[in-house]
Amino acid sequence: MKLVDTHTHLYLDEFEPTPGDAVRRAIDAGVIHMIFPNVGIDSIERMARLHSEFPDVTSMAMGLHPTEVGEDADEVYAAVMDAFNSSLTDWVAVGEIGMDLYWDKTFEAKQMQVFDAQLALALRHSLPVIIHCREALDQTLEALEGRKGVRGVFHSFGGSEADVEKIRNRAGDFYFGINGIVTFKNSSLAKVMPSITADRVILETDSPYLAPVPMRGKRNESAYIVHTAAVVAQSLGLKTEALADKTSANAFSLFDKIKIG
Ligand SMILES: [Zn+2]
Repeated sequence: MKLVDTHTHLYLDEFEPTPGDAVRRAIDAGVIHMIFPNVGIDSIERMARLHSEFPDVTSMAMGLHPTEVGEDADEVYAAVMDAFNSSLTDWVAVGEIGMDLYWDKTFEAKQMQVFDAQLALALRHSLPVIIHCREALDQTLEALEGRKGVRGVFHSFGGSEADVEKIRNRAGDFYFGINGIVTFKNSSLAKVMPSITADRVILETDSPYLAPVPMRGKRNESAYIVHTAAVVAQSLGLKTEALADKTSANAFSLFDKIKIG
């Protein structure tokens, strides 16, 4: 199996004190590459440290997550931009960025401003974006409509066929990052997969969150991506091996700065 986990936070506290073990278990399970998207200020150094231990099988994305946008947003954003500018060749994407109005709507306007600035950054550097969008599809699409030419992925996609259509009509030809949600019994995402088509699916875990069935409720890790791959393959009428090859090719095509070791 040759799988790419396009969204995994193996550098977070949940994997201490041995995050490297989670990377090794993923490799043993058939994961050939993992992308670490940044979250806030505190995650930058830990992310870089784990990446430096496995430079050939991991890549990094730099960006400021919408739930990290608060009172001190300007300061925090400046620090993330310092990190971005200090090692430009390290990033395969700008991410994760976006809009999240599920937890808190207080900073909606500021989230929009920070999201838009990072979309402009991605265009300037010809990088794809990793979009986090929760309870904020219209706002996210509004921002994307203002930055034509941005390419990327709607990470942790869990929407309907109508949402897929809406994204294509308003934002363009985006990829959809599919994770453990597709394995949940209360999700209809598996039925939406044919409208996405194998050409626009990339796989992810979003570890340590959203562990797929039969690991649901546990700490998620990149090795568990095999369970998601099996369900996605079935929903598209493909063998798991073929789905793995296709989605990995999609991932390397979108994240074209990845240096395959
Ligand atoms: Zn994430």
